Amino acid sequence: MARNLKIDVVTIFPDYVVTPLAQSLIGKAGQSGLIEIITNDLRDFTTDPHRTVDDTPYGGGAGMVMMPTVWGDAIDAIAQASETSHHELIILTPAGELFSQAMAEELSSAEHLIFACGRYEGIDHRVTEHYRTRSDFRVREVSIGNYVLNGGEAAALVMIEAIARLVPGVIGNPDSLTEESHSIVAEGQEALLEYPSYTKPAEWRGLPVPAILTSGNHGLIAKWRREQAISRTRQIRSETGE
Ligand code: SAM
Repeated sequence: MARNLKIDVVTIFPDYVVTPLAQSLIGKAGQSGLIEIITNDLRDFTTDPHRTVDDTPYGGGAGMVMMPTVWGDAIDAIAQASETSHHELIILTPAGELFSQAMAEELSSAEHLIFACGRYEGIDHRVTEHYRTRSDFRVREVSIGNYVLNGGEAAALVMIEAIARLVPGVIGNPDSLTEESHSIVAEGQEALLEYPSYTKPAEWRGLPVPAILTSGNHGLIAKWRREQAISRTRQIRSETGE
């Protein structure tokens, strides 16, 4: 069997992630053992009767901050149970490095990913600082986009979907990964967005499929698709200023 990737998600809302992660290709990869995904309830690592995970912020201000004590106990226990020697700790925060296809590629070859889903005003920053001093961890603070969610669970789902589909064996036909939008290309080459796709019927609501796609000329089809990818990429890049 191909390499196994272990993923732990830590959250105070396990139900938010358990069902989505059991669906479709990721669910199948979990069943076949290509990927092992464990959802951990942060409150299981609390020590008080109220299962408290947050407290008021030092320095004042609105909202509550998640306590480093419970996060440290959870992460240590998860790392110890993982049977891997190196852990990628992903702390989800809108103040982090932006998630990208390149990061998904890199993380898809890791041994063990731990997703720390924040809530409230986020996680005490000493969690990041502490695990950055540990040689058995690499810590990344990651944002999935320039907007603020209520919690890290949706961000973890986005990242896991993008990462897991790059693990060899998860997608049945690996060719479908090579021509996709944002696919990594050789240094010096532009990463193109994918060309538009069409299926049957050949005409729908007065819109025919581009004639070239039914010509049977594979050389011309490849050329047309590349031109479409280039013009789409230029248009989107000029609209978004990227
Ligand atoms: N006070 C924080 C700030 O302004 O940076 C926002 C906290 S947010 C309400 C609560 C949690 O949602 C964060 O700790 C993080 O885990 C998650 N979150 C929110 N937006 C996110 C984003 N764009 N990417 C990743 N995680 C996000």
